[in-house]
Amino acid sequence: MRKPFIAGNWKMFKTTKEAVAFADEFKKLYEQSDVLAGICAPYTQLAALVEAFKGTGIKVGAQNMHFEENGAYTGEVSADMLNEIGVEYCVIGHSERRQYFNETDETVNKKLHTAFKHNILPIVCVGEVLEERDAGKEFDVVKTQMVGALKDLTADQVASLVVAYEPVWAIGTGRTATPEQANEMCGYIRKVIEDIYGDEVSEKVIIQYGGSVKPNNATELMNMEEIDGALVGGASLVPQDFIQIVNF
Ligand code: PGA
Repeated sequence: MRKPFIAGNWKMFKTTKEAVAFADEFKKLYEQSDVLAGICAPYTQLAALVEAFKGTGIKVGAQNMHFEENGAYTGEVSADMLNEIGVEYCVIGHSERRQYFNETDETVNKKLHTAFKHNILPIVCVGEVLEERDAGKEFDVVKTQMVGALKDLTADQVASLVVAYEPVWAIGTGRTATPEQANEMCGYIRKVIEDIYGDEVSEKVIIQYGGSVKPNNATELMNMEEIDGALVGGASLVPQDFIQIVNF
């Protein structure tokens, strides 16, 4: 019932020229199927990607946005600005933003409210660091992040949410979570949502796994029952790699 969603997260890679070259190549390889594909890119590439992917069904997302709707916030970009140029998704609360840019559960929650208000679908990221997993605290950590993120959202909003479980120790390290570890946490996240909103809502939420997803491990991860897709960093930069993950 849930359509798998494979999203690329380009982080701070690719110029607009390189982004358009990727799009031209990827469009040729991509066929619309039961799997939704998308690319989350730096701000300056978004308009070009929306244009390049027009009519293909491939979605475009940003990687961050401000929680205020507008105002004196030099250097920031609003949800309304993203929506205006045809961006449909936005990654919110990525661990790199939590680590380097003071993103907190509170700002994540504010961003989710603002995103929904302007028709941007959030891909909200949660995940524990290695010390937390080693201390057996990964479920508590992820629960706190989820409860904080969801505060005061409506059931309809939560039902349309994408959650990415990204254990920080697996991001960019080549060390993926095992399919069992990833599946277990994605199931736990669904349970946390169910406890607040009921199973009719929780069964609709797309829960992705992210962290060193590559062509050679995607099938195994995506075939797990609780995993509905992937948020892919490094392997989304090359069309031939990314298409293999999308076609898992
Ligand atoms: P990675 O990044 O696939 O390069 O590990 C994933 C992410 O940060 O979303």
